Amino acid sequence: MSRFWNKKINSIEPYQAGEQPGPGQKVIKLNTNENPYPPSPKCAEILRSFDIDSLRLYPDTDSKAVCEAVAANEGVKPSNVFVGNGSDEVLALCWQTFWEKAINTDKKVLVPEISYSFYPVYSDFYDVSIRKVPLREGFAIDADDYCSCPNAGIAIANPNAPTSRVICQDDIRKILDANPDSVVLIDEAYAAFAEDYQSAAQLVPEYDNLVVVRTLSKAYGLAGLRLGYAIASEELIEGLKRARDSFNSYPADRLAQALAAAALRDRAYYEKTRNAVISTRKRLVAELTALGFTMPDSAANFIFAKPPAGMKAETLYKNLKEKGILIRYFNKPVINEYLRISIGTDAEMDEFIDAVKEELKDGQNS
Ligand code: PMP
Repeated sequence: MSRFWNKKINSIEPYQAGEQPGPGQKVIKLNTNENPYPPSPKCAEILRSFDIDSLRLYPDTDSKAVCEAVAANEGVKPSNVFVGNGSDEVLALCWQTFWEKAINTDKKVLVPEISYSFYPVYSDFYDVSIRKVPLREGFAIDADDYCSCPNAGIAIANPNAPTSRVICQDDIRKILDANPDSVVLIDEAYAAFAEDYQSAAQLVPEYDNLVVVRTLSKAYGLAGLRLGYAIASEELIEGLKRARDSFNSYPADRLAQALAAAALRDRAYYEKTRNAVISTRKRLVAELTALGFTMPDSAANFIFAKPPAGMKAETLYKNLKEKGILIRYFNKPVINEYLRISIGTDAEMDEFIDAVKEELKDGQNS
């Protein structure tokens, strides 16, 4: 608290990112859903040949090269794409552009009760009223829960975080059909890791009220670059640009734009690393299941697992941390018996499994 801060800053409860180890600290980092593989080798080529003199000049405000690469991948027009400084910034701009405070009315923005913990923070920060929609059995999102409830908008992470569960395109279509007057935001940060997933972006030509948000932080191994984008109708994109140009007209720098465009174009590398993460996930699920863990089916680059009876999630989290293995524990109702474990390399997962086995053995001895 400070007398120099305004009321909002004094009262806000900011988002808490997973911990980042200090320089030189050697850990197995399975706590923030980063990609265990480096970005495309095409990015290294760009870095080697980058014209440093060009940094004298401001970047392209619209990141056109990135929009074109996204458009080619997603089958939309470049004018349907908006680029921001990480998808967190794109999400924040969506909150500022499409929704507002709604007191004493049912017309609030619907978000799943358990979802990306930034959503309630944006809502507080930008004075948007939200209604948290409870999940169903096994953390399932039921599309019907979003179809008959009056609302001012809808935001759903698909796959959801931290639960890792996915809803199908038909369900998203159902939600869009039931809510033609609300902006529906689908946050596809983890969609690349869902097998056979049909992106909601395919529906953008049909629905002027749909905005799909994606990131290069996960599937492209570029969390350190900070680049995310939205795909939506030109009307929604124009709204986002109005918000951007009232805040920071140059969200993506020249180097980030060049690297992002190169990564987006390298489809072979994207497929290779994505498939590697999916196959490691399958192996991890099988091994943890054999050890007595339970978890919903994951469509993401993390799993959400409950340790076997006799082992508390929080204890396992703390003990692994002492061994230099970071995973994520949320001390919150409904999910405090679960651990979110990002998918690392096969070697990292081997070390993780060995450490878990040791903990289980120690637990039995004590
Ligand atoms: N959406 C979800 C569901 C996430 O988990 C994250 C990562 N914390 C983001 C968006 C933001 O990713 P970034 O800002 O790195 O693009």
